This record gives sequence, structure tokens and C-alpha cells, in this order.
Amino acid sequence: MSKQQFEHLWMPFTANRQFKSQPRLIKAAKGMYFTSEDDRQILDGTAGLWCVNAGHNHPKIVDAIQRQAATLDFAPTFQMAHPLAFEAATALAGITPKGLDRIFFCNDGSEGVDTALKMALAYHRVRGDAGRHRLIGRERGYHGVGFGGISVGGIAGNRKQFGPGLAGVDHLKHPLDIDRNAFSKGLPQHGAELANEFEQRLLALHDPSTIAALIVEPIQGSTGVIIPPRGYLQKIREICSKHGILLIFDEVITGFGRLGSAFAADYFDIKPDMIVLAKGLTNAAVPMGAVVCNTSIYDSFMQAAPPDAIEFFHGYTYSAHPLACAAAIASIEVYREENIFQAAADMASYFEAAAHQLRGLPHVKDVRNLGMVCGIELEPQVGKTTTRAFDVFHRCFWEKDLLIRTTGDIIALSPPLIISKAEIDCLFGRLAEAIREQAA
Ligand code: PMP
Repeated sequence: MSKQQFEHLWMPFTANRQFKSQPRLIKAAKGMYFTSEDDRQILDGTAGLWCVNAGHNHPKIVDAIQRQAATLDFAPTFQMAHPLAFEAATALAGITPKGLDRIFFCNDGSEGVDTALKMALAYHRVRGDAGRHRLIGRERGYHGVGFGGISVGGIAGNRKQFGPGLAGVDHLKHPLDIDRNAFSKGLPQHGAELANEFEQRLLALHDPSTIAALIVEPIQGSTGVIIPPRGYLQKIREICSKHGILLIFDEVITGFGRLGSAFAADYFDIKPDMIVLAKGLTNAAVPMGAVVCNTSIYDSFMQAAPPDAIEFFHGYTYSAHPLACAAAIASIEVYREENIFQAAADMASYFEAAAHQLRGLPHVKDVRNLGMVCGIELEPQVGKTTTRAFDVFHRCFWEKDLLIRTTGDIIALSPPLIISKAEIDCLFGRLAEAIREQAA
């Protein structure tokens, strides 16, 4: 590509000037691999952005999209619809946790989060409880980039350019505790008591009857793979139920098999009131998000309004877009036919063992994992040597033909769930080399 071709695109979440001086470009993908612009096969250690769970360019999904594009490109879904919208919702409801089966479609995770927050606020209002107007998130929570999402999210960097965000939002502490839980395998032992801070905070700072919802990622992904301590999410659920607060699971990353079950809600055996989904919903082939809510939330809206009234004043031009619906139906079929969630469950212990072999490498101060996700936290400065996660990422991309993801000093891995043992060995082998060489 010529230099001029780089001028016009303003890239998201990217150091644009740095990137354009040495662009990392992908031109194709298949299964576990990307093809780079210079024709290298790059092992995808991150399922794109935690989203290509069944591997890239799955033929069944590609075919469904192609056929749909030639049949019905678009139809409005305001006051009319197309059959695939209902089919996609039915297919999704076939795998969501029991009781959570009413589905509102949107286009990505950020829209899903804002939809869920609005649904929570409106739900209390339609029941005559308009005093519940506060929303709670967590420190280091990532809930996309809408105004609702950055407000309940707990990442200063995502907010400081944009002013104060939504009013009436508070944040709980995050449960990462490396001092007590370093190198945990699976759920960390210590820290469930942190959930009590939620209740203390509610009682000390807020009247609990003013809280509409708490939103949490079962695993905090984007801020560095924070795994909830054993029992922590169960306590959070209990506290929400006790105080009439809706619990929203943001499963944009954990949905569709990442932990070896369809959803983290299944893995933890917890019923949130709503689940936000995106990414794996279409195996990332077409943008799509969804909010799944329980029947009683849906029924409250239906009962509150006269039969000819719009019950929820919310929606997107592309809600239930035909291409997205076709991709979602095909993806859910692929997940089922190829037993992808079970494959992830079966591979998780191998993945865990391989991840923990990084322990002892220079600068590695923590390895944590659950299902098919792991975080490797680096101590960037040790004596006179500096090793930044971003430098390791760079080296992996250019020299090891491996895509990893970094956030601050943390490396996150979340490969497609179809990864083989040999590819897991390859992934961690290449990463170990890159860390060692970077530290040398
Ligand atoms: N929630 C979570 C937990 C996420 O990880 C993400 C994206 N990584 C989002 C929401 C936002 O999704 P999107 O980028 O599709 O808007």
C-alpha cells in the first residue's frame, strides 16, 4: 500500500501516527490463522478481538451470509419485520440459560450495554419505581464505548477525554488481588468477601432503593483478564436480589463458549436478570449484539402499556439486520454441530497447563486463567531491564507470527475455541520466546 492510502482512515483505539509508520496489516484469514499483507500465516491467539470462536471464515457461516445477501439485503424492523429476525431470536433462546429468553437485537457490544442499561431504567419505571435511577459498575470494568458504557465502565482512559459521563453512577472495587492470588489456576481462592463491599457501599453511600442495576463482566477481559474469586459472583447475585437491583452480566467476551459452557452464567450457575452479547453471536462475521432478558422483565413492559403502544422506546436501524441474523443462526448451528463449547471445556486444562509454564520467565509476575482465556501480567521494570507488554506484542506479530493482545502491562490470550493441542504449544512456545528475547 502506498503512503497516501494511509492518510484518510482514523483508526479506533490506535496510536495512529505510530501505527502508520509500520502498519500491521491482515489480508485474509482461515481457521486459526490470519494471512498478513506480506503473506505470513499468523496464529490467532486472540480470536480476533475475543470473537471468532469457531475459527475464521467458517464455510457454513460464509455461505449463509452470501445467500442472505442475495435474497434480502435489508428490511426495517420497526413496526414490521422479516422472518429471520424471529428465527435468530429463537435460535439464540435455544441456548441461553433457562428463563432468560427474550431477546432484543442491536449491532455490537456497546449498543448492547447501552440497551441493557436503558432497559433496566425503563423496567423500574414501567413498574412505577422511577426512584431507581442509579447504575453501578466496577473499577476496571469495560462495557464498550457508548456514553452509558463508559460511565458504568471503570477505565479512566476511556472517560477522561469526554467529561463526566452519566450522573448517578458508582463503581465497586475490582477483585484482582495479585498479592494473595498470584498464579491462580481457575478461580482465585481469596477475595469473595470483596463482594460485601458492594453492600456496605450501597448502605453507606446510597439508598439501595435508588439503584436500578449493577453491571459486571463475569471475567473482566479488556482490562487484563480479572477472574472472579471463588464465590464472589454468587454473593453479588444475592446482594442484588436482596435489594431489588437488576444484575446485568456483560458476556460480550464470555458468551458462546469461552469458559467451556454456552455462557458464563451457566459456568457459574448464576441467573443474572439480563445478559449482553455480541462478538461470538455471529462468530464476528457480521456485527451484531443482543440483550437477553428474563421473561418477567419483558412481561412487565408488555403489561404496562396498552396493546397498541410501543412498549420500549429504543431500537436501531440495523436491529436484527438480515445478514447478521443469517450469520447468527449459522454460527449457533456450527457451535452446536461441532460441539464447540464442549471442545473448549475439554481443552481448558491443557491450555491452563501451557499458560502456567510461563511462570518463571523474566518479568512475568502473574498468570491467571479460566476456560479458554488467560492473562499474563508483566512487571515491566526489573533491575535495569524493561519489558513492556506492547513490545512483546510487536515482536510476536513481526517475528513470531503470533497475534496476542495487550492492555497496559498485561497480555491477554483468548484463541478461537477450535485450537488444537499442537497450536496451544505453538502459541505459548512463541510467546515464551518473545518474552525471553524482549527481556534479554
Ligand atoms: N463489553 C465487553 C465486556 C467487551 O469486552 C466489549 C468489547 N471488547 C464491549 C462490551 C463492547 O463491544 P463492541 O466493541 O462490540 O462495542
